[in-house]
Amino acid sequence: MNILLVEDEVSLSNAVKKILEQQGYIVDAVYDGQSAVDYATGMEYGLIILDVMLPKLDGFEVLRILRQDGINAPILMLTARSTVPDKVAGLNSGADDYMTKPFDTDELLARVGALTRRTGEVIVETVSFEDLTLGIKSAVLSCGGQSVQLSRKEFEVLKIFMYNPSMTVTKDMLISNVWGIESEATDNNVEVYISFIRKKLKYLKSRVTIRNFQKIGYRLEVAAC
Ligand code: CA
Repeated sequence: MNILLVEDEVSLSNAVKKILEQQGYIVDAVYDGQSAVDYATGMEYGLIILDVMLPKLDGFEVLRILRQDGINAPILMLTARSTVPDKVAGLNSGADDYMTKPFDTDELLARVGALTRRTGEVIVETVSFEDLTLGIKSAVLSCGGQSVQLSRKEFEVLKIFMYNPSMTVTKDMLISNVWGIESEATDNNVEVYISFIRKKLKYLKSRVTIRNFQKIGYRLEVAAC
């Protein structure tokens, strides 16, 4: 289950991401309203956690745009305790639930659980693409009878590709999701990890490769049999 987390307070975002990942969710974190729209319209999410006060576009604008675009993923809005009328506005404009900040971990998980169950999906243990299977908890990558253990970063990079196999993934997306928006990671870090993953794909004799599109990003490609 993929969750899009839209929260501009980096420390809160990091904490929520960690809690959700411990429960087996796959979390993409973005930090402003425009990125929220870009991600949510480009990929399919089982749940969107959406803060109201955000740079660029606020949470209500994001919500309105997504619903207009036909994005029907459940949306959990995060509102400040002082802005109770916001809750009503959020629910009227297509949010499924709301939570006031600050909230505790148990409450968050209960609401996430309720919203994700409603869509009838279960948390998947593996993600597959062509001849590859990636264990979400184990970070083991398998192909045919062969398996290889991925490092944490290799896993987080490859996971983004495997969940979005038809998407061209930019270096910026990889840096903000894998290293974090406040990290000092550069394109070089991405290139190094892409090369590590390519070596493992080769070792596994997978038909899947990571193709480089100059100045745009990377995408998975499948070699003909
Ligand atoms: Ca905020």
